[in-house]
Amino acid sequence: LLDVQNLHVSFGQTQVLHGVDLQVQAGERVAIVGQSGSGKSTVIAAVLGLLAGSGRVTDGSIRLDTGSTDDAGNPRGEAAFEELTELPESGMRRIRGNRIGLVPQDPSTNLNPSMKVGAQVADALRAHGMRDKQAINNRVVELMTEAGIPEARRRAGQFPHEFSGGMRQRILIAIALAREPQLIIADEPTSALDVTVQRVILDHIQSLVDERGTSLLFITHDLGVAADRCDRVIVMLNGQIVEQGDPQQILTDPQHEYTRKLIDAAP
Ligand code: ATP
Ligand code: MG
Repeated sequence: LLDVQNLHVSFGQTQVLHGVDLQVQAGERVAIVGQSGSGKSTVIAAVLGLLAGSGRVTDGSIRLDTGSTDDAGNPRGEAAFEELTELPESGMRRIRGNRIGLVPQDPSTNLNPSMKVGAQVADALRAHGMRDKQAINNRVVELMTEAGIPEARRRAGQFPHEFSGGMRQRILIAIALAREPQLIIADEPTSALDVTVQRVILDHIQSLVDERGTSLLFITHDLGVAADRCDRVIVMLNGQIVEQGDPQQILTDPQHEYTRKLIDAAP
């Protein structure tokens, strides 16, 4: 589904990714682990065309299988990769609109504070091509409920500041799901939340992903969490992948010194 090869990213003169290779198959759950500053968020920002400031891809390719269609727009069932590094911003908006759903690291900066949350979920549905107003309203309530927000019909009329951090994260999950993406990228979706809320939210993302057969790219500091929840684990250090493979194998027989340190440091 996603095929990243030899990805190099720099911010100004500073190179922060030094040739990252990363694949996600359809339906696969992949975790990226690594300490703060290792480049995890930069990888996904590059994939989404959202590198901030002076950030740019200086080398490598990012290909996404967006599915081949016939002249009538029906899926052919064969792979058709698009090179994302060559897409204009309008193309990247389309990818973010209905191909890749992001549950971002910080729930407070990714919601519009002056817009009711139901309207923000509705916007995502419209970006995905839904038009009928009544159908949109019903779907908004459904998605918010699925994301674990009680009394969703009433709460759709509230603003982000009226929700707790955990609930805001759930709104972001509802927005990501509204786009019916092929791939959900969750960047430490819970780092701002307490541990029990974290677990509930992760369980939630996981069951939604499993039900839909959506691929998941999950970013975390925590190797244990990654190994529990994903089919494959990728370990990053200083802008490079130092190790990747089956979670159990990595836990029991780590090849890289840094991975061994991660395991030893785990509680
Ligand atoms: P964390 O676990 O803390 O979220 P991370 O692995 O996601 O860390 P990145 O945010 O990808 O790390 O950062 C990788 C490197 O890129 C860091 O050295 C960081 O300082 C640098 N960097 C990230 N964003 C920018 C930016 N907008 N401008 C300049 N440098 C940046
Ligand atoms: Mg990050």
